[in-house]
Amino acid sequence: TEPPAKTTLPRHPLIKDGWFREINDKCFPGQAFAIKVSEILHTSQSDFQDILVFQSESYGVVLVLDGIVQCTERDEFAYQEMISHIPMYLHKNPKKVLVIGGGDGGVLREVVKHDCIKSATLVEIDKTVIELSKKYLLEMSTAFDHPKVNVELCDGFKYLKQVRDWEYNDKFDVIITDSSDPEGPAEAFFQREYFQLLQGALKDDGILIAQASENVWLDLKYLTKLIKTAKSVFPNTNYCYTMVPSYTSGQLGLIVCSKQYDLNLTIPTRLPTENEQGLLRYYNPEIHSSFVCSSNLGKFND
Ligand code: SAM
Repeated sequence: TEPPAKTTLPRHPLIKDGWFREINDKCFPGQAFAIKVSEILHTSQSDFQDILVFQSESYGVVLVLDGIVQCTERDEFAYQEMISHIPMYLHKNPKKVLVIGGGDGGVLREVVKHDCIKSATLVEIDKTVIELSKKYLLEMSTAFDHPKVNVELCDGFKYLKQVRDWEYNDKFDVIITDSSDPEGPAEAFFQREYFQLLQGALKDDGILIAQASENVWLDLKYLTKLIKTAKSVFPNTNYCYTMVPSYTSGQLGLIVCSKQYDLNLTIPTRLPTENEQGLLRYYNPEIHSSFVCSSNLGKFND
């Protein structure tokens, strides 16, 4: 009889001794976050990035792109709800929403909770992320088949260049940049030209929120520069943040901008209905006002 065929278990260079380590000296100098791995579900190199999906012991399924945690089943709602509902409740009547990036589907899931929307378009560069999310992140990928959702597989920067030439009435009420970090395919999302394109893609009362990739405890100089860049295009810009334990240092910064000079970004313009609030686990109007700060970041670790 033949000996049983040897099966090779998937491996990944960032998983050693059963632990995934998010070690990145540029983004997180001198510190790292580690999660205990139960099973590697997927590893591949797509046309755009290194992709790893694993089952963890205490955070559920984890999605990692280019070595950086994008989401975990346990704490993803703390990110998705803040990046989605801060701009959605700042707008008095959002009908048309654009999500740039967001291939895991979590932001779409939150956006479609607002009955007032007519359409939500997701522009994702990497179809593999969407496919893997549908396979492994079942709670996050529920909205891809929603009748108001439309998915475009292309580079968000290029997509915005096309939107620049659209009729005013076709432009967006809310834009959410739910991208990965600046090293890799999302690099252009942290430059002035990107904010200019976003401004051109929004209606006059439009609201933008962007993942800042930093927080006040990590690279304050970079964050301050990014906020200055946003402010040079949107004078009404605030910093805000959310607490997500699986992002190294436990916080992630967001940048919220309005084209209206006098809109107070710390106070939601609409309040969630009882039904909407019942669907949320993290966001509420008090959290909105507490976590949307001024754009003066102070000194922290300067
Ligand atoms: N919550 C996450 C975080 O902040 O860590 C971001 C989640 S989401 C998975 C990020 C997505 O942005 C990825 O699926 C990635 O493929 C997509 N992305 C990166 N660069 C892009 C680009 N130029 N155009 C469109 N999507 C892009």
